[in-house]
Amino acid sequence: MALRVAAEAEGLDGLLVTHLPNIRYLTGFTGSAALLLIRTDATILISDFRYAAQAPSEIGAAAVVEIDQRSVWERLGRLLAARPIGILGIESHSLTVRDAERVSSLTRGRVIPTRELVECLRAVKSPEEVAAIRAAAALAQEALAEVLPGVRAGRTELEIGAALEGALRRRGSEWHPFPTIVASGHRSALPHARSSDKVVGVGELLLLDFGAQVDGYCADLTRTVVVGARADDRQRTVHELVETAQRRAIEHLRPGMPACEGDALARDVIAARGFGEAFGHSLGHGLGLEVHEAPRLAPTSDTPLPPHAVVTVEPGIYFPGWGGIRLEDDVYLHPDGTECLSDGRTELLELV
Ligand code: ZN
Ligand code: ZN
Repeated sequence: MALRVAAEAEGLDGLLVTHLPNIRYLTGFTGSAALLLIRTDATILISDFRYAAQAPSEIGAAAVVEIDQRSVWERLGRLLAARPIGILGIESHSLTVRDAERVSSLTRGRVIPTRELVECLRAVKSPEEVAAIRAAAALAQEALAEVLPGVRAGRTELEIGAALEGALRRRGSEWHPFPTIVASGHRSALPHARSSDKVVGVGELLLLDFGAQVDGYCADLTRTVVVGARADDRQRTVHELVETAQRRAIEHLRPGMPACEGDALARDVIAARGFGEAFGHSLGHGLGLEVHEAPRLAPTSDTPLPPHAVVTVEPGIYFPGWGGIRLEDDVYLHPDGTECLSDGRTELLELV
């Protein structure tokens, strides 16, 4: 498989995969405790009693399953003692220092930290993965459409968040990939606000950033609306600018483009109007089994965007004390262009 080729290119004789989304990607295992040992001639998943039945049924032929009643680490030690591995790679972004030391104590060979070998594979999506993200985005949009008519001034952010999360779950979202953000008025200027008991006021901005999960794959959407009144001039102007920036990026993103150039597609539009300082975060991030994964669509990354990646495009403008407007859609980087997997319906909604 492609991972073995990548591991060999790094000079490894084996790789210990510990990051659970990577294990899920490679084997289909969805449990919360496992080690995956990839050797040149075998792939072994070590898990515990809770997954004795689940692991073999999920994994099929992808790996040999070993269940240990006492400790997955002890089982790893016995496997490494029985058939030593010369140079074993570990995932430096996933293992704690303590567990890395434990792996070193279990093997007579060398242990080498690796960086995101599996994540690089995951950044390139198969048609099935793209379809799952598209389904998650559709589900998220339907949930929002169900909830918006009931959004009024006088309700709290938490009440609106609860209604949205209930609709997401009823429509089949496996989980909320991240804490739902419902932020109103001045709180919408906090890009990662937690929903609070603040009551939404008449004429306030309401920012909703929420996700859905289908077959393990995440969608991530943001819409900003005005509650209980027509938008005022400033709300309208800022919204239009964010929308223009987002549309430019969605239309012109291409695989192969350095990530910082992709980010600049939107950032330049906002900066040209003098609001560069008010857009203080990256344009987007990769989307898949995790809600934040490779590639980063950031001004600080010159890594080329891989073909078949799925990224969010989410410019925002925030003014402390006034509020913020962010729009977020999920975009597939097809070799010939982009495809918006969410509906891209970002027109300013006035809930009057
Ligand atoms: Zn989001
Ligand atoms: Zn996002």
